[in-house]
Amino acid sequence: AIAALALTACGRSESSSSASSGAAAGFAQNSVIGVALPQKTSENWVLAEGLFNDGLKSAGFNADVQFANGGVTEQQNQISAMVTKGAKVIIVGAIDGSQLGTQLAQAKAAGATVIAYDRLVKNTDAVDYYVAYDNFKVGVLQGQALLQGMQAKKPNGPYNVELFAGSPDDANAKVFFDGAMSVLQPKIDDGTLKVVSGQKAFDQVVTQGWKAENAQKRMDTLLAANYNSTTLDGVLSPNDTLARAILTSVKSAGKPIPVVTGQDSEVESVKSIMAGEQYSTINKDTRNLVAKAIDMVKKLQAGQKPDVNDDKSYNNGNKVVPAFLLPPVIVTKANAKDAYANDPTLSKLTS
Ligand code: BGC
Repeated sequence: AIAALALTACGRSESSSSASSGAAAGFAQNSVIGVALPQKTSENWVLAEGLFNDGLKSAGFNADVQFANGGVTEQQNQISAMVTKGAKVIIVGAIDGSQLGTQLAQAKAAGATVIAYDRLVKNTDAVDYYVAYDNFKVGVLQGQALLQGMQAKKPNGPYNVELFAGSPDDANAKVFFDGAMSVLQPKIDDGTLKVVSGQKAFDQVVTQGWKAENAQKRMDTLLAANYNSTTLDGVLSPNDTLARAILTSVKSAGKPIPVVTGQDSEVESVKSIMAGEQYSTINKDTRNLVAKAIDMVKKLQAGQKPDVNDDKSYNNGNKVVPAFLLPPVIVTKANAKDAYANDPTLSKLTS
């Protein structure tokens, strides 16, 4: 590793590597680093694109950052193209975490290190590291916020609620839901919460493609079928885009606004929280997550092992993927000013 570091430090290209272990012998500073992002289903992905381009370039790497708005096949082709270009590291935010095994195996065979970014890739050995906010914790915080928000309005239950989850092809969606249900299920069991529609299983509450229109349609249907003379107290929403769709549905049905959770600290949702509509969101500062991913790339470039802080939580079906997890932060109107104090965009909305 020291030899590789010396080589790259004097700017010579191409050192031999044994990258398949994930602890490579280092590589040239100006190497191609591929970043395969999914579809623009929330603001965090759009922010990540700019941050990866800027951060990788300023560290001297040759950044190849791609969105796959066309879907899974496009993402597969983009990863293959990164392998062909000789990418030394491929960072992947998967659209469908189970559909990239072939391309990532090619990447590994070509000596690249594979880092799953934000979303885990499943059912493959061809992934070396995972960097994300603690997804289970995100769900726990959402479940707690839902309860607290409803209790603040009405101290005692029972509370009528509905549950929404994200897209089932995204490995995160089930983890968010399981985290939330670890808080909510005991309250369903003891009668504090009533899921009036009866739709409680993950498969019943998913939102295909994380699409706002799908959540809005489902909420319209739920309201029409269950809430003519019943008050809806709260909705578990896995992210902000879906939270706003749920709120749109409730408003157009002329119903009182329930407590609605979220995630991502999207601009429109932070405005909604400050206006007293959406109840909560989660701060997962994209700047910190991208910085951590780039930090991993720098370590690999220098022939060192990237830092991990969790080597047990993320079993992808084939292996436990060593992870670096960052802590998510719950945000409501009460702590928004503090939570976004160092965010140049969001701090303007909270003062
Ligand atoms: C991310 C969430 C985001 C969702 C939809 C998830 O994998 O972790 O932050 O809301 O994708 O884009």
